[in-house]
Amino acid sequence: MKLKWMYTLLLLLIAFMLPAMASAAPVNSAAGVPLFFNGKELKPEVAPRIIKDVTMVPVRIIAEELGSKVTWNQEAQKVTIVKNTQKIEMVINQLSATVNGDKYKLDSAPLLIDGNTLLPVRFIAENMGIEVDWNDVKKAVYLKEKTVPLESTPGTAQPVPGQTTEVTDKPATDKPVSVANGNSLSTIKKIDMTASQLLINADTGELKPSIFTLKNPERIVLDIPNATLDPALYKDEANKSGSTVSSNVYVSNIRYSLYATSPSTVRIVLDMKDSMDLNWVSGLGTSALVGSIQKPAKYRVVIDPGHGDQDPGAKATNGSNEKTFNLSMGLKVYKLLQQEANIQPYMTRNDDTFIPLDDRAKFANDLNAHVFVSIHGNSYLATSTGTETYYYKSDSTEFAKIMHKYLAAATGLADRGVRQEPFRVVKVTNMPAVLLEVGYLSNPKDTALMFNEDFQNKVAQAIVAGIKEQLNIK
Ligand SMILES: [Zn+2]
Repeated sequence: MKLKWMYTLLLLLIAFMLPAMASAAPVNSAAGVPLFFNGKELKPEVAPRIIKDVTMVPVRIIAEELGSKVTWNQEAQKVTIVKNTQKIEMVINQLSATVNGDKYKLDSAPLLIDGNTLLPVRFIAENMGIEVDWNDVKKAVYLKEKTVPLESTPGTAQPVPGQTTEVTDKPATDKPVSVANGNSLSTIKKIDMTASQLLINADTGELKPSIFTLKNPERIVLDIPNATLDPALYKDEANKSGSTVSSNVYVSNIRYSLYATSPSTVRIVLDMKDSMDLNWVSGLGTSALVGSIQKPAKYRVVIDPGHGDQDPGAKATNGSNEKTFNLSMGLKVYKLLQQEANIQPYMTRNDDTFIPLDDRAKFANDLNAHVFVSIHGNSYLATSTGTETYYYKSDSTEFAKIMHKYLAAATGLADRGVRQEPFRVVKVTNMPAVLLEVGYLSNPKDTALMFNEDFQNKVAQAIVAGIKEQLNIK
């Protein structure tokens, strides 16, 4: 026992000494990317670098700064990272990794460069519950533990580096973007929240913001492309950001920043005291926008029955297929939601048509929907059975837990848990989004249940109950 432990220790030492010794060799410092963790800049002796849009960091950062246990198996070229209950395994030059035994595909494989082990930081950090953001203004990577409040308390602190990017959970690539070529750039001169109206004035041009909402805490986020901020508005010169006082009872604070440079985009965040809608009263597409804050008439819920038409999804053991199951379930959920006074339901498809994944997400994003639920049936072995709920973005974690609680109880099948996976529809949607795998269509018993009317009705009721809990509808 003791010997084995010594051996592990030795391997660890080798793993850490190699990079340290090799770091004396010159590294391409031009490729170095500043890296911050909980606001503190990390200064690894080997600079993090961006390889194929992915930020790769030396193994020491993962072990020492992120407080995980890293072991190295020389023979298998395998790195094992353990933090709390999470166990991540990856192999040098291999794109497949496992998290607690589940397989994932990496965007970029772990590398040995000049004796330095470089690992994809986003994948590892996100699987440890650490937020990863690329700050385009600073051209730096910001890591933040989720226990650290995501937002400064309204009215107290100035925005901190990285904060302007963390209000979004949009999957950002780690790739630095160039400064916009700036054709017809509007300079925003005034951002004002009066008792009844949001006023945004620019010197010239056509302001066409995209709007989305974020929960916990409630925020309304406006991204205005082809716009920049008048430096007079900066409260924080270095971060090209600022804030202004709100006179509206529902808006506690307004923050803004130059969020991106390609194209130049101004982001305005309204910290909300309640879940509200922002509607344009006038000026959309001009240089003087006027918006009003109103109670949402109804919550917009998008139901997405997976697959369709030429894409049947999984084959069911009863001769049917997944697309048929998904549509049948989706229609039942939709009908139940229609009976809810506070909900306006939408479906990405209500017949046997095929819709590309990105179009499904765009449909929900364009609606500025409050939640997105994709319905699927699973397939693996004839003996595989059970219910899974998938999410990807951190803003969907709670929603996934709520949905799974109701769903697993309703199916009565094995509870295979809530899982994080970058499925397209839950990744590129702006609102809390889940993908439900109700049961296994490769399993005759699951299939018999899943095509049973009573079972489908029960599951549909559970899905509605979960959506209502998420939206706080009693
Ligand atoms: Zn599917």
